[in-house]
Amino acid sequence: MKNLGKNLLGAFALLVVIAFIFSLFVNIGGPTPKTIDISQVASDVSAGTVKNITVNGNDLTLTLADGTQATSHKESDASLTDTMKNYGVTPEALAKVDVSVQSQSGFNYWMGLLLPSVITIIVMIALFWWIFRQARTGANQAMSFGKINIRLFSANRDQATFKDVAGLKEAKEELEEVVDFLRHSKKFLDIGARIPRGVLLMGPPGTGKTLLARAVAGESGVPFFHLSASEFVEMFVGVGASRVRDLFATAKKASPSIIFIDEIDAVGRERGAGLGGGHDEREQTLNQILVEMDGFDRDTNVIVMAATNRPDILDPALLRPGRFDRRVILDIPDMKDREEIMKIHSKGKPLDKNVDLKTVAIRTPGFSGADLANLINEAAIFAARNNRKTVTQEDILDSIEKVMLGPARKSRVITTKEKEITAYHEAGHALVAASLKDADPVHKVSIISRGMAGGYTLKLPMEDRHLKTRAEFLADLAVSFGGYAAESLVFKDVSTGSSSDIKEATDLARQMVTRYGMSEKLGTRTFGATQEMVFLGRELTAEKDYSETVGTEIDAEINKLIKRTFDFAKKAISSQRGALDKIAKALIEKETLEKDEFYALLKNFNLKPTAITA
Ligand code: ADP
Ligand code: MG
Ligand code: ZN
Repeated sequence: MKNLGKNLLGAFALLVVIAFIFSLFVNIGGPTPKTIDISQVASDVSAGTVKNITVNGNDLTLTLADGTQATSHKESDASLTDTMKNYGVTPEALAKVDVSVQSQSGFNYWMGLLLPSVITIIVMIALFWWIFRQARTGANQAMSFGKINIRLFSANRDQATFKDVAGLKEAKEELEEVVDFLRHSKKFLDIGARIPRGVLLMGPPGTGKTLLARAVAGESGVPFFHLSASEFVEMFVGVGASRVRDLFATAKKASPSIIFIDEIDAVGRERGAGLGGGHDEREQTLNQILVEMDGFDRDTNVIVMAATNRPDILDPALLRPGRFDRRVILDIPDMKDREEIMKIHSKGKPLDKNVDLKTVAIRTPGFSGADLANLINEAAIFAARNNRKTVTQEDILDSIEKVMLGPARKSRVITTKEKEITAYHEAGHALVAASLKDADPVHKVSIISRGMAGGYTLKLPMEDRHLKTRAEFLADLAVSFGGYAAESLVFKDVSTGSSSDIKEATDLARQMVTRYGMSEKLGTRTFGATQEMVFLGRELTAEKDYSETVGTEIDAEINKLIKRTFDFAKKAISSQRGALDKIAKALIEKETLEKDEFYALLKNFNLKPTAITA
């Protein structure tokens, strides 16, 4: 459809050009002299009413006695004199008339002669070409699908450098080596080293995989072919594979070069996975990638980079040596990196003097680079909407939850009863957290509904940690029961608001018992060989590798953990009912309590954080 429009436009432009050329040769405008017969000319000449005649080829231009002009045509091959004679004009009468013969200018003459035919031919050719093209794209569309639209990153547009990437130190080091390979491949080949063929970037969404690949393109200065794997997947069988062939052929021609396949899990999913047989097309595409990568000579200077956030579902064949044998892991940024990332993204956005990105970084654990970029942008939008020239700390802090949980839905109408329940629920979580030595401090409590969560209590770890202890897990369990416990104590009833808390707690308790060896009774072993079944995209299906008796024991242990922590939550709340009421009231009033406000409320209550003994 787009093509048709383009063609029509082309045809129209051609017409305009032709009309223009014509207008150069045919003179339009001015008073057009009347045209008369040659016999009329003869009689006029005989009558002596003609002053002069200009002969131009077969065209005659007459000036009559009264000053008017007229045109006429004579027969070709006969001179004017002969023609007049034939019409019976006497030589005397003719002699009275000024006859001037104008020689036709060479260019005009030939153009006049050739132009019509030339234009006809051009129009015909254009028409044929157009029809032919239409026919070809129409009938052979399937064939042209195989032609890939490989994007070559243009030199300045999409360019990024390693400087644009904050943190990710190890990943950058690894990729700098790759850049070195491409730049000075001879050095490596001379010493017999094999240039890595494939580099796989793995990491959660938004951690900068695509960005890092772009930075490699920018730094290496070699052609960089970028392609998203989902583009491979077409409805026509065989097309994905031919696209791969195209891509590799193009890249080899341009070597040294880099091929970047983004989101490779779209095609690299384990073969044979999924319900109802495999996806043929995807498998063929994957096979072709493998074939092409194996087909590289030792000195083919093409490095294949790929990115995925699901390395767990990738076909093992992709990960064999000689293919994606280098793996670069990108992690969610830690506090320092978060600050760096925000610094990069606040370039060009005037920040107020009060902005302290470090505080923002403390408040944003778990945020990916993309989230942080989004955060700064949201803050800037907010500032601009309020007609301010600078972005303030409040703008940024206010944007945190927006990024975290979707746009705030302040307008959602909740009944006063709902609000009260939510306030007590959240107050319960917060109060239990404050009563525990091992719980993360409460950073914020809120009952404003955002996204999915009805309300939420934000606990933040003091530092980013990778290890968690049993005591911390127990504290987590107790905190998740805080909402339920508060509701049941205050209203003698519970709402559906606790369902996700309960699920989370149950999952955690099960993991403590079956994976982390945190149950004394069952000891340090795992239960349920988590077989990675190639089914439904490799879900973890726990295979029972224990007896029924042990199964019962596991359940008992899980129940014990849940009961202990729930009891703790209940006790923490009932013993501090005054504090609970106070927090809940404050929440109903203000909807949101910041860390300082929250702990200030607790000041007058003699709250001593303790540990759970279980
Ligand atoms: P992925 O491909 O891993 O899902 P992207 O590379 O597309 O993530 O990242 C999205 C955006 O997030 C980037 O364009 C960039 O603006 C920002 N970003 C992510 N990680 C970083 C980082 N480490 N440093 C700077 N910006 C980052
Ligand atoms: Mg990406
Ligand atoms: Zn809750």
